Amino acid sequence: MTSIVEISTPTGKVYLLEGQERSVLVDALNDWWQKSILRSVRRRGEDAPGRVKLILLTHGHLDHFGGAPGLRRRLGCQIAIHRLDAGGPRTGRNLPLSTRNLYEKMARPFVSRIRAEPFEPDVMLEGEEGDLSAYGIEARWIRTPGHTEGSISIVFPGQTAIVGDLVVGRFNAPRRPAYPLWVKDPAPVKASVRKVLEYSPRTLLSGHGGPLDADEVRRFFSLV
Ligand SMILES: [Zn+2]
Ligand SMILES: [Zn+2]
Repeated sequence: MTSIVEISTPTGKVYLLEGQERSVLVDALNDWWQKSILRSVRRRGEDAPGRVKLILLTHGHLDHFGGAPGLRRRLGCQIAIHRLDAGGPRTGRNLPLSTRNLYEKMARPFVSRIRAEPFEPDVMLEGEEGDLSAYGIEARWIRTPGHTEGSISIVFPGQTAIVGDLVVGRFNAPRRPAYPLWVKDPAPVKASVRKVLEYSPRTLLSGHGGPLDADEVRRFFSLV
């Protein structure tokens, strides 16, 4: 049995997946949250930090991978990302951002300029899906492109899915679903949401806001 612990900060969320003997941290946020993430992991028990074997990045945006190399040093674990999104960590910059509206057009120059420590991931996820049992977690990862090409979701069939930025909570109503930023074409997002919902999760856990009720997500994307 894997339990999912939410670690929430003002800019986003990471999830600690606790298996019987090993744990996986989903995403790492920006570097400035390192201390509070480590504090939350330690709060789970004296041996909790040593149990983390992997930081699994949902995608190659800096607000998710920026803190990963620092946490890797502190936890002595590996970092995994889908090969299609590895350009983010390797350059320490956001992948090219496509814009849909004026707000994104105005924000893009600033967001594109932010830098983080570049690093080489240890594990490259390939293809469309895989199993996490090697890391002691009873779940699968599936590729869910839309927000980025190499975005992944982690699915616990019939229970929960961690979706990164595929779907986010609304800024002013975090438990209501919304399209993520930096998406020019909504069609692949919708197709990936459909893919996630095929695993019949009751709840979707997002990188920003949430938790999101699966039925509400289905209605929001007109997948009823
Ligand atoms: Zn993102
Ligand atoms: Zn994000």
